[in-house]
This record gives sequence, C-alpha cells and structure tokens, in this order.
Amino acid sequence: MKILTEEIALGQNQTIKIPVGQLPSGNLINIYTHVFRASEPGPTILILGGVHGDEINGMEIVRQAIQSDMLNQLVRGTVIAIPVLNVYGFINFSREVPDGKDVNRSFPGTKTGSLAARVAFGIHKHILPLVDVGLDFHTGGRNNYNYPQIRYTEGDEAAAELARVFGAPVSISYKSIRKSLRRVARDKHQVPLLVFEGGEAQRYDGLSIQHGLAGIRRVLQHHEMLDEPFQAEKGLYFDHSSWVRAPRGGLFQWMKSSGSWVKRGEPLGFISDPQGIKDSRFIHARADAFMIAHNNTPVVSMGDALFHLAYNLEA
Ligand SMILES: [Zn+2]
Repeated sequence: MKILTEEIALGQNQTIKIPVGQLPSGNLINIYTHVFRASEPGPTILILGGVHGDEINGMEIVRQAIQSDMLNQLVRGTVIAIPVLNVYGFINFSREVPDGKDVNRSFPGTKTGSLAARVAFGIHKHILPLVDVGLDFHTGGRNNYNYPQIRYTEGDEAAAELARVFGAPVSISYKSIRKSLRRVARDKHQVPLLVFEGGEAQRYDGLSIQHGLAGIRRVLQHHEMLDEPFQAEKGLYFDHSSWVRAPRGGLFQWMKSSGSWVKRGEPLGFISDPQGIKDSRFIHARADAFMIAHNNTPVVSMGDALFHLAYNLEA
C-alpha cells in the first residue's frame, strides 16, 4: 500500500502526514493518518473523525481506537485511522474551516481550491482509492444532542448490511447529501460509508464514545480482522425522521430526551415567556416515534429545531 511517497508493507504500522496547507502564522497543517496493517492481506477499513472541527466525540472514538490494543491486534487486512481531518476547524473550535465552508459539502474537492476543498481532496485523492469500507464519526451540533446513531444511504445495500454489522442503538437510511463524503465515497469509489452521530459538539458523551468503539470492533470482527467471533447487536432501524420546531420563542425546557419512545399527544417540552407574562406553551408529539435528538439550549427562537423524531420502525 502506498500513501503519498510512503510504502507501507503488510505487518507494518505507520503514521503518515498528508500536507493540506499552512496557517497565516506559517505553521504547516497536516492530516495525521495512522495505518495499521496485519501480516495477512484483507479488506481496508477507513475510520475517520473530525470532518467537522468541533465534533469531539467522533475524534475521541478514533483516538481511543488508535491508542487501545484493538488496531494492534489485526489478524488480516488494514485499518486507516484519521482522528482529526479538519484541523483548521479544530484549532478554531469550529465545525467549518476559517472561511466558513463545510468540508462535508466540499467533496471531492480540488488540489488548488479553497481550504475546505483542499482538505476534502486529501481524502478523495490519497485515501478513498485504497478503502473498501468507511466509518465516518461525527457528533451532534452545538447544544443539539444526538442519541448514538448510524446514517446510511437509502438504497445502498452494502451500506445497509454494514449498518447492521455496526449495530448502533439506532440506524436510519437517508438520501446522501450532494458533495458530502458519503455521496462521493459511494459514487466515485464504490465505498459503502456509514456516518455515526453521537452526543453534541464540544461536549464529551461517554455513551456515544462507547457505542462508536463497539461498532468499530463489530465491523472488524465481521470482516475477520480480529481473532474473535462476530457478536451481532440488534438495534432499531428507521427510514424516516423529522424535526419538531419551536412554535414561538422563549425559554425552552425539554421533558423527554433522546433515546426514548414517545406517544402521540405526549408532551415533549414547553416554552415559557422570560418576562413572566404569557402562559407556557407545551409541545406535543404528533405521532408515536423514537426520539433521536433533542436541543439542550435554554433560549430558542420561533422555528428552532427542538426534537428529532424517527418513524417507521422496521420489523
Ligand atoms: Zn458532523
């Protein structure tokens, strides 16, 4: 296997720096790419974190995978692990790169384009051609908690199968987004890629980290890359979800949180008037559903996304 000018033989582990640019201060920016190769050939799995620079749980999952024993015990195949793809966002505590562009809307990118396009291009050009399966670890948004979940591309049988192997508590199929890593991996490289989401930006969430690592382990077990049997985990599978939005602005408190089933008509939370004039307004579920995300911010505007509910549980 060759990345840039580095040759990595079977049985070798190596860390490669993929250069993507330079800060105004002159510091060089590299994508640290850890390659773990067993002595026996086999599939190549990409484990990626930090596409969004403030999504710490995703980075922590990849970091723990790298620094635990798991990847040093491969009996066949290769794991390519990148904990922090968007270094620019990470050092700025930001989802995006400094010019405001989103790396996950910039694939496949270009060598000479703007920052986000260059970061995306590093993966598209140097990594995806080597990969059979991709796991892309994200975290929820600011104040927006995601229950640990997998998103995979609707109609992609290989990705659906991979989601079942990963065995997250919840998996949902969606159409992939234009210029996203998931779309480009599938359309240009025939790589099924799962997007994991867990917790909220800039906050550690132990539950999400634990489920992310367990999912990596199951994917490796299933591909016979670890010397241990595959232990399937049954999760919940949905093919539809939608947000319940704030009917007015004010102070928001949730009564139901992510990871719970809700019944039609059940109160999910309420918005109160900070001035103490209007009565509180309750928000009710319109149908039976499973809550996959909720908003933790105490101050909301009309139309803000409060609860993400999943419907159509698969048998
Ligand atoms: Zn993300």
